[in-house]
Amino acid sequence: MDTSIASSPQTPKTDPFTIAAPASEVSLATRVRVVCRVRPLTETEALRETRLIEAVDDKTVCLQEKETPNVFTYDSVFDEHATQEDIYASVGQKTLADLFKGFNGTILAYGQTGAGKSHTMMGPGDGNDLDRGIIPRVAENIFTHILQSSDEVEYTVGLSMMEVYKEHIFDLLDPQPKDFLIHEDKLNGIHVRGLSQAFVSSSSEMASVLKQGCKNRRTASTNMNTDSSRSHAILQIILTQKDVTSGEIRRSSLFLVDLAGSEKVDRSGATGITLEETKKINLSLSVLGLVINSLTDPKVNHVPYRDSKLTRILQESLGGNSRTTLIINISPASGSYYETLSTLRFGSRAKKIRNSVHINT
Ligand code: ADP
Repeated sequence: MDTSIASSPQTPKTDPFTIAAPASEVSLATRVRVVCRVRPLTETEALRETRLIEAVDDKTVCLQEKETPNVFTYDSVFDEHATQEDIYASVGQKTLADLFKGFNGTILAYGQTGAGKSHTMMGPGDGNDLDRGIIPRVAENIFTHILQSSDEVEYTVGLSMMEVYKEHIFDLLDPQPKDFLIHEDKLNGIHVRGLSQAFVSSSSEMASVLKQGCKNRRTASTNMNTDSSRSHAILQIILTQKDVTSGEIRRSSLFLVDLAGSEKVDRSGATGITLEETKKINLSLSVLGLVINSLTDPKVNHVPYRDSKLTRILQESLGGNSRTTLIINISPASGSYYETLSTLRFGSRAKKIRNSVHINT
């Protein structure tokens, strides 16, 4: 376990996602890691639909289309038998270890509504059961790590929770209507100015802040008659580590994001919704796709981060200073064929994104 704070940035050991960097270099090129998770068929799907997806091995998934199979490879593939613990061990644990080393991290869950994003990120219960997802497990393990670490380091854990809906940012820890703007400065990087931050000193305190944030999300959704599957839920954890001897401070940030359902909102299918609203609902995810295309196309040199709130907030996560994992959640059912194909293609494009990470000081 690495709990010390170095007086100068260290080069971490390389891992399979690190491309190439001389040992002396502080900045490392890494690529976005893509993990595919296939959820089980629901009871209704099992009665009415066929299964189109097979995990061939732990890196390959096959989507059956009539006679032609479409084969996709990712850094990891998990089938319906994968437990929440398996997903945490593959994705969460490493990202958390990196956070303590001083690296920024991001975990994004992408996929159509009902594909298992919230199950993967939060889990179905209140965060105490075996089925708890990545976020409650991070909340526990961050404090286990702190409690086991040396007395030489003072830790501060700050937590922000926001929702992006129709290009508006809502503070889930202080749900007063406010107009938030995104700012960038040297000290804080890109941040939402005025967003509240809760400082927590135990996993139970963190769990209760998370619970309140989730409750505020449900209340806001009911009050405003909106569908939370259309909004992006963004949790940011900021870990500050202070070396008590040297006074040196290292600050690293972790984004845990449950994205809106990737299916396009069609105005004809949604009642009481204007064309303008439809455009806004789709905007952030459409721009996310454009950002990924721009980052992976050598001919394009403008990346449209500023065209949506989501991509501006996550600018460092895609092509910037962050170790990023994208989890693509898919349904195995035949009725989801087109959405599944589109999600698998999105994951394949995202695999090509290069980030450049360095330990924050
Ligand atoms: P999304 O957030 O993508 O809209 P959910 O996470 O709400 O989807 O999942 C839809 C339903 O499928 C929920 O009832 C959820 O509990 C269930 N589900 C999703 N993934 C799994 C899984 N891996 N194992 C068991 N049930 C799952």
